[in-house]
Amino acid sequence: MENVLNEIVDKSFAELVKATQDIISIKSVLDDSTIQKGAPFGLGIAQVLDAMLIKAKDMGLTTKNLEGYAGYAQLGKEGEQVAILAHLDVVPAAGAWVVPPYSAQIVDGKLYGRGSVDDKGPAVACLYALKAIKESGLPISKRARLILGTDEESFSRGIEYYLKKEEAPACGFSPDAEFPIIHAEKGLIHFLYSLKMEKTEANIISLEGVTRINVVPDLTTAIVAEVTEEDVVAQIRSLGLGKHFKVETDLKGVKITSMGITGHASLPEKGWNAIQNMLQLLAALFSKANTPLSKFINYLAKHLKMETNGASLGIYCHDEISGGLTINTAMINVDANKATVKFDIRYPVACDGEEILEKLKALAEKLGADFELIQHKKPLYVERDCPFIKVLQETYKECTGQEPKLLAIGGGTYCRSVQNTVSFGPVFPGQQELAHQCNEYIALEDLRKITKIYAQAIYNLIR
Ligand SMILES: [Zn+2]
Repeated sequence: MENVLNEIVDKSFAELVKATQDIISIKSVLDDSTIQKGAPFGLGIAQVLDAMLIKAKDMGLTTKNLEGYAGYAQLGKEGEQVAILAHLDVVPAAGAWVVPPYSAQIVDGKLYGRGSVDDKGPAVACLYALKAIKESGLPISKRARLILGTDEESFSRGIEYYLKKEEAPACGFSPDAEFPIIHAEKGLIHFLYSLKMEKTEANIISLEGVTRINVVPDLTTAIVAEVTEEDVVAQIRSLGLGKHFKVETDLKGVKITSMGITGHASLPEKGWNAIQNMLQLLAALFSKANTPLSKFINYLAKHLKMETNGASLGIYCHDEISGGLTINTAMINVDANKATVKFDIRYPVACDGEEILEKLKALAEKLGADFELIQHKKPLYVERDCPFIKVLQETYKECTGQEPKLLAIGGGTYCRSVQNTVSFGPVFPGQQELAHQCNEYIALEDLRKITKIYAQAIYNLIR
């Protein structure tokens, strides 16, 4: 271990914390309404990318902004390129936060804010890791490039643009999941079913649950007619779902609010899906209705249940390396002439994505609906004995004293888009998963610890 790197991280820690706060305080959520030249994902994201690159330039690193789609900060002038894949966009901050989500306040040694752990905190930590290596004057023979993506939470358009324009790295890691090292990531399928309707149906007047496709929805509302408030309450009681609903009489009918527990779509079993919850109730209320929308909802409810593994849909599969398939019903919208439902599926590395797609398409026919693929990303798998994995393992063991196990996850990081890269931190084993959650924070001591690990690891990869 190079103690000089740890000493420099300690010396610049106050500055690192301030920089993390600066970056968190820029609300970098995808914003279609402010798209313009140089800001392909809206002004907030363009601003945060600029802010990061200015900090990097001030440190004496080589920087480049790729028309707002991505950017990088590089240490070293020649030799193989080792990539660090981070992102600066965040998911929206729903829920009741203890402090405003973009205020980046520190409470009891914890730095709160959307992006503190996913992925702005780790991005700033890696930037300061590069700074520490530069300041130390330790000899390096390769290049380390911190690549900053801007659309990771939506469609990965930033990193795709980057990969088209820039050379591919020799190897690398992404500080966007957990420690020790993730060498396998499940495949990802985002898709939707849509049902065209002639007119608004008399019983289900509106239905809406909208967050992000990779988030477990915690709220869905519906307005229904042809039933009374009492009917709805009785049905909820018989389903045993009382604590997940609110019912009130509205001008147009009965307004039902379905309340779930949000979370990351790669771990849907940790949340409670407000859309699936609502579908169960609507199917029970209108089980005898023979309209296209009622049939669509009944069929979905029957095949989704409250499951998160796709068993009743007939798509469940499982392997030793990465576990079982997961599915999240992410968004639903019903208006006068169309019903749309969007899903997020993560499938094990050894399973066949094409086969799953075929099954999903076949289901569309039974639903009387159209199937549309939004995106499909094949699984990631890097062989255990790659030399750079060994370097990360040794560094992790030296820095933490812990066993550097190799893991598989369902969450999608940039590693799936870039050959020969793995996830490395920032969440330590046993720590609560706070990405995409309300009250996301990073403990200051963890921020210090990860910066030291990243500095050591990057140095070991480029020495
Ligand atoms: Zn992330």
